[in-house]
This record gives sequence, C-alpha cells and structure tokens, in this order.
Amino acid sequence: MTAVNPSTTEDPGPSVASLDTIVSLSKRRGFIFPSSEIYGGINAVWDYGPLGVELKNNVKRAWWRAMVQEREDIVGLDASIIMAPQVWVTSGHVANFTDPLVECATCRRRFRLDELPGAENLTNTEMQDPTVVDRLGLKCPVDAGPLSAPRRFNLMFKTYMGPVEEEAAQVYLRPETAQGIYVNFRNVRETSRKKLPFGIAQIGKAFRNEISPGNFVFRMREFEQMEMQYFVKPDEAARFFNEWKPRRKAWYERYGVNPARLRFRQHRPDELAHYAKEAWDVEYRFPFGWKELEGIHNRGDWDLGRHQKESGENLEYFDPATNESYVPWIVETSAGGDRAAFTFLIDAYREEEVRGEKRVVLAFNPDLAPYKVAVLPLLKKRDEIVEKCHALRDDLAKDMLAVYDDTAAIGKLYRRQDEIGTPWCVTIDVESLEDGKATVRDRDSMEQIRVDLSQVKPLIMERLAKARG
Ligand code: ATP
Repeated sequence: MTAVNPSTTEDPGPSVASLDTIVSLSKRRGFIFPSSEIYGGINAVWDYGPLGVELKNNVKRAWWRAMVQEREDIVGLDASIIMAPQVWVTSGHVANFTDPLVECATCRRRFRLDELPGAENLTNTEMQDPTVVDRLGLKCPVDAGPLSAPRRFNLMFKTYMGPVEEEAAQVYLRPETAQGIYVNFRNVRETSRKKLPFGIAQIGKAFRNEISPGNFVFRMREFEQMEMQYFVKPDEAARFFNEWKPRRKAWYERYGVNPARLRFRQHRPDELAHYAKEAWDVEYRFPFGWKELEGIHNRGDWDLGRHQKESGENLEYFDPATNESYVPWIVETSAGGDRAAFTFLIDAYREEEVRGEKRVVLAFNPDLAPYKVAVLPLLKKRDEIVEKCHALRDDLAKDMLAVYDDTAAIGKLYRRQDEIGTPWCVTIDVESLEDGKATVRDRDSMEQIRVDLSQVKPLIMERLAKARG
C-alpha cells in the first residue's frame, strides 16, 4: 500500500540486503525451521528451534513487562482459541474478514489482488469492482495467464467441535486474539475492580488462511499476536490514542531497533477496517520494503456495542465520577509476536571485518538474546578448568540461560556465539587456576576484561539489568 502519511521519507535501506541471509542463518543455527520439513514442509507454517523459542519467549516477556508488569492500569488474560461461533458473526469477521482473491485460468494459482504488480494502490471499492482485472490489464505473474474477477475470500480457518462433522458443529480458529478480550470485558473488570481507563493484554496464537503468505515468518497462516485493548471514556479516546501511538514505536527502539528503520503510516479513509475510527501502523524497513509491524487503532464503541446488542448482556460501564453509564471506547495496540521477533532478528544482523576476516554478529539487546552468556574453557584437556566452567555455568543458569561449549578452538567458539547473539563469553584458562580470575568478553566491542570468578555473575546480572532499562 502507498504511504499516505509516512513519518519518514528517506529510505535508510534494510539492515541486511537479502532475506535469504536471515533464512539461512535461522536454519543453520536453529532459530527457525520449516514446519514438517521431513514431509516436504507445509506452506507458511514455521517451527522455532532451540534458539528461536528463546528469542520469541524473550520478546513476549519484554512486551508483557512493558504492557502489564510495568503498568498499574493493565491486566493480562489468556482466552481460548476456539470461541462460540456467534462471536465471529457479531464481530463482523464472518461477513467481512476477506481478502480479494483472483485465480489464474491456466495454472490455477491464486493471488491476493492487491499484491499483484500494478494493483498495490487500489482502494477497497476498486478491489470489489468485477471489471478491475480487465481495466488494469492484470495477468498471472507466474505464467501471464488470464485472471478471474476478484472474489471475497474469507480468511478464517474452520473446524468441527465434537464428534459430528456437520454445519451446526462448525467453529473457527480465532483470526485475532482481541475478541477473547472483548467477551471477557465484564469478567475482568469486575474481578480486577478496575476503573476506566484500563487495559487488558493478551498474547496468543491466531490463524489466518492467507492467500499470499510469504517473506519467511512475516506472513504466516499460524502466528502469535500480542494485543492490548485499552477501555476509555468515549471523549477521551483520541487523547489515549495519541499517547499509545508513540509509546508503541518507542518499545521497539527500547529493545534496539534502529529508529531510522521505523516509521508511522496512517490508514487512508477507504482502507480503514469496518470498526476503526482512526488507524496507524508502525512500519519497519524490511529487506522487502516498508511493512506493517504493529497496528494502533481507535475502535470506538464498535466491539462492546455489538457484543452488547447481540448477546443481550449489559456491557456498559457505570462511571462513579459522573454517575453516567456508557459503552467504553477502545484503543487497541495489535502487534505480532513472530513479526516482532523477526524484526529484532533482522535488525540485529551485522557483518564486520575483523583482522581481514568476516565477523557475523547478532547485536541483540541482551534481554532478548537467546543465551545471555557462554562459558568456555581455554583448555578442555585440563579437568580443573572444565570443572570450574561447569560450576560457573550451573551457578549462572539459576538466573539466566547460560551455555557451556568446548567443541572448537576459542576463536571459533567466540564467532559461533557472536553469530547467535550471545552478549558475553566467559573464558577460564590456566591462569585462572592460579589467580581465581576469568576473562569476560563483550560481544559488540570484543573488549576483554579479567574479573574475579566470584564477580562474574554479579557483573553479568548488572549489565543485564541495565540492558532491560
Ligand atoms: P495485513 O493488512 O498485512 O494482512 P492486518 O492489518 O490484517 O495485516 P492486523 O489484523 O492489524 O494485521 O494484525 C495485527 C498484527 O498481527 C500485525 O501488525 C502483524 O504483526 C500480525 N500479523 C497479522 N497477520 C499476520 C500473519 N499472517 N503472519 C504473521 N503476523 C501477522
């Protein structure tokens, strides 16, 4: 989509020229694998390996810290993936959660209309025009075959609940986590005794049968969302929207994303979802262009108003300050767990030349790094050294993910840890047996300092706390 209101006009370029570099590093080092690979994989579904699961968990924890732990006015929730089907009728998803699909008459491939070259800037109305394909002379991008007129394709996955596969038993896999929050609004408000404004935050899986998934984990069919719905007095929605917008961009910066590669983009009036009064995306400069990282939406009273009407339950809020009852308005911040982890991974990628050799570094904020520290023996043949390394790792591991490695020479071990983003390496050598000291090496500066073995853990804990901010 064309930016109507991008806050940045210069292109800083991506942190890495080719997405393949990240895909291959992810596979080689155990961040992300294709799902069911031994059976040839399954399109647009990915699995997180030993390092990927740590990175994504750290991203989710960092989000939870900023959105729940550090806030007095936001509480958490973990709602179910399968909900009463009526929820999706009320929310408008059954009728409107569609993308415009066109099909090639020759190869039968299907495409999302607005992702075809020449159709990127179509308005919603134009995308529903049956003559649009002919008018723009669009052809199949694979074999130049003729394309069908667009039809609306619903992105929700369907399945059956219970032992009978009939329409009455049909349920949906949630396409967003937000609805679980709306239908629990009253339960949460009453049990947490919150007064407006307050928010409910949730992290969980969502499923969308995307027509054109791709760009690695950018657009998947199964993914995680990190959403927060902030319930406010109607006439205060605009003010809170304006507070949440910069706060959410700042969160990515706090965890190390280069601010030059972040910008805002406002949705055009014809692009706004049916529920939205105002919507802005935080965009990131991916190797494949500026794309949405997170959406911030003023949803008005659409959600609670609709659920109140269709369920017949009272979802109004009684405001003790003014003695009025009203349906709260909602300001939503909607981020992707996978997309955020992917962004932190790409943005951390560096290639440097050190003494004539290429050094690849993932310069993660230490709080996001999968391993916080690697403990390495300089001589693995010396039992006392190896024992001290294991004892140190075990002690560190009580508070953080720490790894022992002796499978290569020290130079190679350092490079391996740099490439997976481990912020600190601790080396124990022959001298350590004499002076009780170890060498602590910093990933980014490669600076090495000698510290007393007993001081290694406090030093790393202190640096970690600083990185967390
Ligand atoms: P698009 O217009 O690109 O399809 P959207 O505007 O429908 O996306 P939202 O419904 O606002 O996306 O979803 C909120 C967030 O969830 C997105 O900003 C993104 O981070 C994440 N997300 C949405 N769809 C996917 C997907 N298919 N794969 C991975 N993450 C996704």
